[in-house]
Amino acid sequence: MQNTQQPVLRDIVLVGGGHSHVGVLRRFGMKPAPGIRLTLICRDTHTPYSGMLPGYVAGHYAYDDVHIDLRRLAEFAGARFLRTEATGIDRAGQQVICSDRPAIPYDRLSINIGSTPKLSNTGGAADHAVAVKPIHRFNDRWLALLERVRSTPGPMRIAVVGGGAGGVELLLAMQHRLRSELKALKQNPDLLAFALFTRGRTVLPTHAPNVQRRFARVLGERGVAVHCNAEVTGVDATGLTTVDGQHHHADEVVWVTRAGGAPWLRDTGLALDDSGFIQVTDTLQTVTDPNVFAAGDIASMVNHPREKAGVFAVRQGRPLARNLRLSLEDREPQPYRPQRHWLALISTGDQ
Ligand SMILES: Cc1cc2nc3c(=O)[nH]c(=O)nc-3n(C[C@H](O)[C@H](O)[C@H](O)COP(=O)(O)OP(=O)(O)OC[C@H]3O[C@@H](n4cnc5c(N)ncnc54)[C@H](O)[C@@H]3O)c2cc1C
Repeated sequence: MQNTQQPVLRDIVLVGGGHSHVGVLRRFGMKPAPGIRLTLICRDTHTPYSGMLPGYVAGHYAYDDVHIDLRRLAEFAGARFLRTEATGIDRAGQQVICSDRPAIPYDRLSINIGSTPKLSNTGGAADHAVAVKPIHRFNDRWLALLERVRSTPGPMRIAVVGGGAGGVELLLAMQHRLRSELKALKQNPDLLAFALFTRGRTVLPTHAPNVQRRFARVLGERGVAVHCNAEVTGVDATGLTTVDGQHHHADEVVWVTRAGGAPWLRDTGLALDDSGFIQVTDTLQTVTDPNVFAAGDIASMVNHPREKAGVFAVRQGRPLARNLRLSLEDREPQPYRPQRHWLALISTGDQ
């Protein structure tokens, strides 16, 4: 724990309770830095471990198994925890602007806020679809859906938009769980119909062809209607419309498409890539401002572009913690190179 008698000389502010900041807090908790005050700003008190999220939806894990309690972790690290949303950065004044409290000053700032689903680009999606993030909103809607299926079992159509690993995995997890619920109630699980919509010509476009074929087979065997080359152009209260003008009825539309950077970052003056992610150097410092770091999905490493995956966010925790310390001690931050290959496991929900 940080010694509370120690005068605060410098402030590190962490925006977002993503995987990298979990690592930073853990490291500062194990090795406190005298005179440095850590502050975590996060809109959620609990942050999910991404790889286990589909397992939670499938019913294999409880909520607490897959979520990290940020308030407790901050306490362990001797950090302040402020439950609020960052809405801007005043870089000249070195402070973070928050939605519902006075600005928070920083000497070093780190941003690990994940990616933001792009619902606003598709008419009606923001009102009628549910995105997997922010996680508390998805969880509330998921629990409500579970309750609806349990209390009034009847025909229901569920559409998932997005044919990447997240969309496929989440669909299979939801299907497994909801069918199990109906079976437990001695109801016919075939009352539930699932459909997957993707603008790509195949599911899992960034995976190897044999993985694509295997999952296309699993989806077929599980009775999922897969619509490829089917960009969703609109969502309404009754379902969704695809680029060919066809309307598909759906009681629930879940949005798991490729996401971008949070819109508020555009006003920070930080250099962003084409998808709105913050451009960072090998030290995880932003290319624009060495006092501002970024990691995880929101960071785009200019020299080492990689897919968005929680595994990178986790691995960046260690170099981020080290470089925040070095930078505050006016020493040279050390470069970091993400791995090229990683184990991508996609669950079929039933195992
Ligand atoms: C269904 C699904 C399954 C996945 N499975 C895997 C997998 O098996 N393996 C894998 O590697 N990746 C997986 N991913 C991808 C993975 O979820 C992301 O790459 C990972 O979560 C990114 O981590 P992060 O630390 O960048 O941010 P996140 O985990 O998204 O955390 C961001 C945090 O910042 C907070 N925040 C956001 N905006 C603000 C703000 N303005 N102010 C304050 N706080 C804010 C959020 O509340 C959250 O706590 C999956 C994704 C999905 C959708």
